[in-house]
Amino acid sequence: MKLWHHYHTPTSIDEALALLKQYDGEAQVIAGGTDLLVDLRAEEGAAFHALVDITAIPELTTIDVQESAITIGAGVTHSQIVRSSTLAAQATCLVESCGVVGGPQVRNVGTLGGNVAHALPAGDGTTSLVALDAEAEIILNGERRWVPILDMYKGPGQSLLDSTRDLLLRFRFKPTGAGEATAFKRIMRPQGVALPILGCAVWLRVDGDTIAESRVCIAPAGPTPLRASEVEAFLNGKPASETTIDEAAELGQQVLNPRTSKYRATADYRREMIGVLLRRTLTLATKRAQTGVAVPEGVGM
Ligand SMILES: Cc1cc2nc3c(=O)[nH]c(=O)nc-3n(C[C@H](O)[C@H](O)[C@H](O)COP(=O)(O)OP(=O)(O)OC[C@H]3O[C@@H](n4cnc5c(N)ncnc54)[C@H](O)[C@@H]3O)c2cc1C
Repeated sequence: MKLWHHYHTPTSIDEALALLKQYDGEAQVIAGGTDLLVDLRAEEGAAFHALVDITAIPELTTIDVQESAITIGAGVTHSQIVRSSTLAAQATCLVESCGVVGGPQVRNVGTLGGNVAHALPAGDGTTSLVALDAEAEIILNGERRWVPILDMYKGPGQSLLDSTRDLLLRFRFKPTGAGEATAFKRIMRPQGVALPILGCAVWLRVDGDTIAESRVCIAPAGPTPLRASEVEAFLNGKPASETTIDEAAELGQQVLNPRTSKYRATADYRREMIGVLLRRTLTLATKRAQTGVAVPEGVGM
């Protein structure tokens, strides 16, 4: 059985939108296909009249670095992100999260936009975009605008976008500056394909020996990605010390509510791991912010 009947490769946003309009809900956007094709094959009888591939649209496949903002096209692959030395230095957590997605084959075609549009609460790219306080540029109901990254999620696997009509274009966020750093760590179950159990991304700014500001994303800890706001509030203004990090990790275990997943881990195990991950990620981000040196860890090429 055919999973689609027509495959289009537009080279401009206007052309992609015109195709979606023409098919009137019978065509679906595709990027790397690493989520979409798996879903299509799993759903018996599922097929689209047409697929609209966005990976030949130049605006969606470039990384643009300016002093005030880094902009990444939705069709940029995880491998492209991992290979960027600028992102390694100024958005280290994103390189670390994209560097653990699947294996090399998946990273070579899977895109950051696909990770977000698929709307799972624990997408690895997503987790770091939340810590980076990114915005997403979208075309929703024909209107082009920027929205906070967390607004992209309506529920597990439910995106703000209808990928038969709307488009995710780009992401933007501020590069880390002096005294700022990020880190991402993940715990997974290596079982043929790695099954991620929990991910954690942190952005923080230190002022001397004090944590001045922080953003923490632990995923999955709810139906949509979320910031650990109680942990952030606790950290802000505290000494950048092992004691502070230990207390923040304990607080994270108390306030976050992971769920049991049949194939991945129990809620109890995940809660235990929240403490482990927070300690590791906060310690690394703090060290990077204080030394000004950030070299991505655990990244597959
Ligand atoms: C073996 C394997 C291992 C994996 N491991 C991981 C992992 O470790 N961590 C992880 O986070 N994910 C993992 N994934 C999931 C997947 O690879 C990622 O989520 C990837 O980023 C999806 O991107 P894609 O370009 O392939 O999306 P696609 O499959 O092309 O699209 C996914 C969804 O997003 C929509 N979409 C895509 N781009 C746009 C756009 N620009 N505008 C509107 N809608 C759009 C599509 O219509 C579809 O609904 C794995 C997948 C596989 C098959």
